Parts: sequence; structure tokens; C-alpha cells
Amino acid sequence: MKKSYYNSPSDFDKFHKILKQTNCPHCNMIGALVLNGAVKGYNEKGDDSETIKGRRVFCNNRKKTIMVVAEHLVF
Ligand SMILES: [Zn+2]
Repeated sequence: MKKSYYNSPSDFDKFHKILKQTNCPHCNMIGALVLNGAVKGYNEKGDDSETIKGRRVFCNNRKKTIMVVAEHLVF
């Protein structure tokens, strides 16, 4: 899995749909990847509201967070 960012909610949706058919870059098992919550941060507009910066992807096989997919950002 090379892609580690998404640009829009529909782009993220596509990423989410293929997640279960994607082999884990860590242990190579297909179907082990699940989304594991959002990565939050403060937005750049300067107000105090939190915004979702990305999502964590968790490997169910190794019980490990293995990557972060981020909106607009490339890790
Ligand atoms: Zn894995």
C-alpha cells in the first residue's frame, strides 16, 4: 500500500473500500487492516475547533498501528 493520503471524502471512501482486499505492508496478510480512529488536530484558521487530519490504519493480525492516512498531508 503506497498511498498514504487522500484528498477528499470520496477519495477516502475508495481507500476504505479496498482496505479489506489490501495486504498489510507490515505482515503481508490480506484482510487484516482496519481503520482505527481519527487523527485530530487544530485547524489552521486559528479558532479552537478540532479538525480531522487523517485516519489511523490498524493491523488486526499484529495489533499494531501501521500507518496514517492523512487528508491533504503526506506522511
Ligand atoms: Zn499486518
